[in-house]
Amino acid sequence: MMKAELKKAFHKQINEELYSAYLYAAMVNYFEEQNLAGFATWMRAQTVEELNHANKLISHLHERGAEVKLDAIAKPTSSWKSPLAAIEAAYKHECHISACIDDLYARATKAGDNAAALFLNWFVTEQVEEEASADEVVQKLKLAQNAPGAMFMLDRELGARTPTFPTGAAE
Ligand code: MG
Repeated sequence: MMKAELKKAFHKQINEELYSAYLYAAMVNYFEEQNLAGFATWMRAQTVEELNHANKLISHLHERGAEVKLDAIAKPTSSWKSPLAAIEAAYKHECHISACIDDLYARATKAGDNAAALFLNWFVTEQVEEEASADEVVQKLKLAQNAPGAMFMLDRELGARTPTFPTGAAE
């Protein structure tokens, strides 16, 4: 049985993941408005993955017989001064999420909840990937942003992304 305090921390993380999906949905709109359909596709895949993260956390609570409380999702920023500013904001947001996961993991360990800590291992590893993939786009965009031909190619490259589904998610 999961302790009440840890359960509350899981609820907070579910909200963080849902907010991430909402923020990235706002970025999809921004990139569509900038006529960067490939960037929009990349961000749409990111949105789907964030919903998967929320569902994975929700499934763990259900498996543990713990109730799930959904809170209101904050309004996301909806415009950025440039595509680079938007992607940099996504990278910064993932760094914030990594800190949240580290905090949740520490709480699970402190509570002696080995099942939760083992479950959260997946998220710890996932955040390394999340930061790396957002940073990769930041770096490529820095190289391409002032060269229309390079931007065209980068947009096409990002448009090839499809969402990946986490193992052990709510299938
Ligand atoms: Mg996430």
